[in-house]
Amino acid sequence: MANNTPEKKEEKAVEKTNFIRNIIDEDLKTGKYDGRVHTRFPPEPNGYLHIGHAKSICLNFGIASDYNGLCNLRFDDTNPSKEEVEYVESIKEDVRWLGFDWQDRLYYASDYYEQLYQYALQLTKTGKAYVCDLGSREIKDYRGTLTEPGKESPYRNRPVEENLDLFERMRAGEFADGSRVLRAKIDMSSPNLNMRDPVIYRILKATHHRTGDTWCIYPMYDFAHGLSDSIEGITHSICTLEFEDHRPLYDWFLDQLEVYHPQQIEFARLNLNYTVMSKRKLKELVDNKHVSGWDDPRMPSISGLRRRGYTRESIRDFADRIGVAKKESTVDIALLEHCLREDLNARAPRVMAVLHPLKVVITNYPEDQVEELDAENNPEEPAAGTRKIPFSREVYIEQDDFREDPPKKFFRLSPGREIRLKHAYYIKCEKVIKDEKTGEIIELHCTYDPESRGGWTNDGRKVRGTSHWVSAAHAIKAEVRLYGHLFDRENPEEEKDDTDFKNFLNPNSLEVLGDCMVEPGLAEIRPGTHCQFLRQGYFCADPDSKPGKPVFNRTVSLRDSWAKIRKKTQNAK
Ligand code: ATP
Ligand code: MG
Repeated sequence: MANNTPEKKEEKAVEKTNFIRNIIDEDLKTGKYDGRVHTRFPPEPNGYLHIGHAKSICLNFGIASDYNGLCNLRFDDTNPSKEEVEYVESIKEDVRWLGFDWQDRLYYASDYYEQLYQYALQLTKTGKAYVCDLGSREIKDYRGTLTEPGKESPYRNRPVEENLDLFERMRAGEFADGSRVLRAKIDMSSPNLNMRDPVIYRILKATHHRTGDTWCIYPMYDFAHGLSDSIEGITHSICTLEFEDHRPLYDWFLDQLEVYHPQQIEFARLNLNYTVMSKRKLKELVDNKHVSGWDDPRMPSISGLRRRGYTRESIRDFADRIGVAKKESTVDIALLEHCLREDLNARAPRVMAVLHPLKVVITNYPEDQVEELDAENNPEEPAAGTRKIPFSREVYIEQDDFREDPPKKFFRLSPGREIRLKHAYYIKCEKVIKDEKTGEIIELHCTYDPESRGGWTNDGRKVRGTSHWVSAAHAIKAEVRLYGHLFDRENPEEEKDDTDFKNFLNPNSLEVLGDCMVEPGLAEIRPGTHCQFLRQGYFCADPDSKPGKPVFNRTVSLRDSWAKIRKKTQNAK
C-alpha cells in the first residue's frame, strides 16, 4: 500500500519564479545581505495550521532551500494563553509532516522578552516612547480615522524620567491590567493609522506557557515581530498583504533602535472557496462542535487534510502551482483536489470495496469452491504487481450496478443481461429475489460462464458493463465516511457580519456508511494508508480503524472537476 513516505516523483514543470525571488536575486547581486538568504515561518500558537499556512511554509522553507539559505521556525507567542502548548506541538508536527526541517533553529518570541524590554527602555530613554494612562477605549477614540487626524494623548509629553520610572514599575507589577501602556511616539496625524503612536507594551497579569509569571507586561505583535526578525538575522521577512500598512512601523522600530534591518515583503494570502481560512473561525467550529476536532477531515487544517488522506506531495505541488502574487484572489478547491488525484493516481493501489452491498448468488458455481484470482494493483504502475483475491459462490456488488428496469444507456446488470465482474467472470442475471412484504430487492441469482475466467472470453462475446465486487464469505465489513464541502456556498464569508459564516455550514458534508464490504486484504490496514476503491475514489484508512474493522475516509472522488474547469477556460480563450 502507498504510505505517506515521500516518493521520488518526476519534477513538475512548475514555474517557480515570482516577485519575491526576483527581489532576492537582486539582493544577491548587490550583496545586500552578504549573499545570505534567511527566512522564517512565524506562527502564532493560537490554533492549528491550515492550508494557507502551508503556502507560507512552502514559500519560506522553499526559498531557503533553493537559495542554500536557512529558515527558522519561530513561535510568535506574545499573547499568553492556556492552550498554547497543544498548538505549539501540533504546529511542529505539521511543518515536519510537510517535509521541512528547521534543524536547530526553533525559536520563540518569548525567548527575547528581556531583549525586547531593553529595546523598549531604549526608546523610552531617547524620548521615542511614553507611558500613556488612557484606557483602550480612549486610545481608540483619540486615534482618529482614515479621514481625520488623531489627537495627542495628554500623557504624550511626559518627561523621560517619569516614563522610565512608570515603565519599570509596569514591569514590576505595580499597576492593574489595562491601566497603562507604553506607546511609541511617532505621529498622531500620520495618514497611516499604524503610525499614530501605536501601543508597544501592555500590562497583562497572565501566565505564559513558557515564561510563566516572570512577566506581567507583554510586547505587542508589531514591536516583537520585526525585532525578533532582527535578532535572528532574518534577511527577507515574508508576510501576508494585511501587513503592508504595518511595514512603515516595522521599519521605524528598527531605524530608531539602529539595529540590523531585515526587509519585510508582503504577498497575497491563500483563499480557497467552500471553506474559511482563519484560525479564529476554525477554532469556533471546533469549540462549538460543528466538526469533530481540528483534524476533522472536512477542515482545511493541515491535520484535517492529513487525516482525510491528503499527501504532503500534493499540498506542496499545490503551493507551487498557485504561485505567489501581490493581488488577493480565491483559488478553486478543485485545483487542490486535482493535485491530490494526480499524486494518488500514480501510487495508490487499486482495490475493490462495495459501499452499498447487494448480494449475488452464482447458482451454477460449486458451493464450497473458492478461487484465488489475480488482480493488478495499479494499471499506472506495472511494478506494483498483482495480488490474489478470493472468489466464491456469493459475492456483493454495488446496489447501483443493478437495475430491474434499466434506463437507456444503463449498461450494467439487469434481468437477462450479462456483465463482467472485474478480474473474475462474466455473470448473467437470471432472477431477482425480493422481500415478499416490502418488495425490496434482497438478492440476485446469476449464472457465471466458467470460460470467462479473468474477465474475458475467447469467443469475442462482448459485455458492456464491468462491476467491482467482493466475495461475501471473505469480505470485511468496513465503515466508510464520505465528505462534501464544509460550507454550502463558495464564499461563506460573503455576509458582512463576521459570525454569519456558520449559517452556511453544509448539513450534508458528512455521510457515514456503516455496512460497506471490502477486500479481505484491507482487514489490517494501517491508518494513513491510501488506496483507490475501484470506481469510487481514493480512500485513506482513518485512525479510528481497528484490526479487522477498518474505517476509511474518502479522500477525493475520481471525477476531476479541475480538468473540466481548465478545459472550459481554455475553450473560452
Ligand atoms: P489566521 O488569519 O488564520 O489566524 P494568522 O495570519 O493569524 O492566520 P499566523 O500564525 O500569524 O496566522 O501566521 C503565520 C504565518 O502564516 C504568517 O506569516 C502569515 O502571514 C501566514 N499565513 C496565514 N494565513 C495565510 C494564508 N491564508 N495564506 C498564506 N499565508 C498565510
Ligand atoms: Mg496572526
